[in-house]
Amino acid sequence: MTLVYLDNNATTRVAREVLDAMLPYFSDHYGNPSSMHTFGGRVGREIETARERVANLLGATPREIIFTSCGTESDNTAIWSALRSNPGKKHVITSRVEHPAIKNLCEHLSKNGYRVSYVPVDQNGELDIEFLKDQLSDDTALVSIMWANNETGVIFPVEEIAELVKKKGIVFHTDAVQAVGKIPMDLSRIPVDMLSLSGHKIHAPKGIGVLYVRKGTKFSPFLIGGHQEKGRRGGTENAASMVGLGIAADLARDHLKEMNTTVKRLRDKLEEALVRQIPNTLVNGKGANRLPNTLSIDFEFIEGESILLMLNELNICASSGSACTSGSLEPSHVLRAMGVPFTAAHGSIRFSLSTRTTEDEINFVIEKMPPIIDRLRALSPFWNQTRDPSHDLSR
Ligand code: PLP
Repeated sequence: MTLVYLDNNATTRVAREVLDAMLPYFSDHYGNPSSMHTFGGRVGREIETARERVANLLGATPREIIFTSCGTESDNTAIWSALRSNPGKKHVITSRVEHPAIKNLCEHLSKNGYRVSYVPVDQNGELDIEFLKDQLSDDTALVSIMWANNETGVIFPVEEIAELVKKKGIVFHTDAVQAVGKIPMDLSRIPVDMLSLSGHKIHAPKGIGVLYVRKGTKFSPFLIGGHQEKGRRGGTENAASMVGLGIAADLARDHLKEMNTTVKRLRDKLEEALVRQIPNTLVNGKGANRLPNTLSIDFEFIEGESILLMLNELNICASSGSACTSGSLEPSHVLRAMGVPFTAAHGSIRFSLSTRTTEDEINFVIEKMPPIIDRLRALSPFWNQTRDPSHDLSR
């Protein structure tokens, strides 16, 4: 059975070109870029080429690119840097729907002397900008708002937020881990101070990320050590992965149009077919501007995990919008923040496509989903007992 991989927001396959570019750095070019000899120096030069490539993808300059180990490290570095650079300020603004890399750190901060404001979202997953504006104060050290949501794909108006935060002279960070490579981005035009990205979401390997830091932004390192990354991130460079990420950045730029045409068309086809064929479904973020590759869809009165298990038997990979914790299936904080009814949020599935996704794969999923949902609903006491034929989830 061939694999149908529709979980690209979780991670992506390393592109062939990326792997080919990386391999020599494990064998022939293993020198330390900090060494005085030419052998190591050559590796250093290739890292600088990779930095230029990443900068080109973002509309940044190479000096503004700091390589890290992952999106989580980039997010943590950005937040700690803003707080350490503004020691008198004790307030942070973020959204209710951030990835745990931001959310859990903010929860930690609120237990350790900081005040955190969480900007709510509406039922489409769109941000309450007025609330955000009202929260900005002289005590605010940082605003951190993701560019696009990993579960629903809802895109936030980062340009507008960056402008209004900048007017107040407050540091603005955006977690763009899901947005990079899926929507165009030009930081020479948008006053973002810091931005996080992660290699494994754009066909580079796991274990490499980037923190963009705009020139002039006060910066305090998270990993204090050697002089690597101009003293902004200590630790001997992960040269192979940096080189790989450079190639992946070029590929992402080349594939941006395809992402917003072919991939979007396949996502729309999947969405339209599932909603048409299966009653009591709800598309999360339907009314919002969304990433072209993401479909978050709820099937009422059944559990997402059961759907995933049945998809898994067919070698179809997707994700669910709930987390199995201590035996109870708790809908994700994102769907709860959007006010998705519990009966729907429990049956939430995320399909995330890539430029490798084929029409045949989408057709296969479209064919297999209705009988899976039928079988599970036939077993569901909620579906059988509480189903009201007039019940309409569409909104
Ligand atoms: N931020 C977002 C929005 C993500 O989706 C993820 C990963 O899923 C991360 C941060 C964390 O990135 P990493 O896995 O590279 O630590």
